[in-house]
Amino acid sequence: MGNPLRDRRTAAELASVGQVIEFTDKVSSFEGLAAIVEADLAALDPARTPSDWRESTVSGQLQFGFVDVAGRFPMVSGNATTHVVAVCQRCLEPFRLKLSVELKLLLVDAEQIVDGYEEFEVWELDEPALRPQDIVEELLIMAMPFSAMHDRMAECKALLPAEASDDEGVQDLKRPFAALRSQMTQNKTDSD
Ligand SMILES: [Zn+2]
Repeated sequence: MGNPLRDRRTAAELASVGQVIEFTDKVSSFEGLAAIVEADLAALDPARTPSDWRESTVSGQLQFGFVDVAGRFPMVSGNATTHVVAVCQRCLEPFRLKLSVELKLLLVDAEQIVDGYEEFEVWELDEPALRPQDIVEELLIMAMPFSAMHDRMAECKALLPAEASDDEGVQDLKRPFAALRSQMTQNKTDSD
């Protein structure tokens, strides 16, 4: 027996057996997701990068079935949750970012048109066989914010009252937000 999350099977096969997949895995098993996190963290000083972020758990559940009685249209529903480490674009500090997705997908072949079932999102399959993990991974990647930021003010250095800046190195990171922020600081100083 392989791992149902990684085995490649057709959507019809998965749906016809009503495959349920409960998974608890590590971020390191999701190579595409890990590569994106790694690229984001590459801008940080390695000493400030949490070393164990790849060990973070990805967990969830998938259930396959057919939306129609005739068994023509496969679907998958479920959820997935993980925590990744992202760099806050306001304060440029790494922080744990929760990614959580609920899925309800109608699995269709390319160019197949299915009417009805509006409660499902249409998920076009490039190939007849799919790896359930690829769907989970793609959804988690899409759930990553374009610009990650601490959502709690108390945790974000940039939102704390200004203290003596002792981390000049951070300011030099080549990031659009950093550039913008230093420009804004500059303008403020000029007008004072
Ligand atoms: Zn922050």
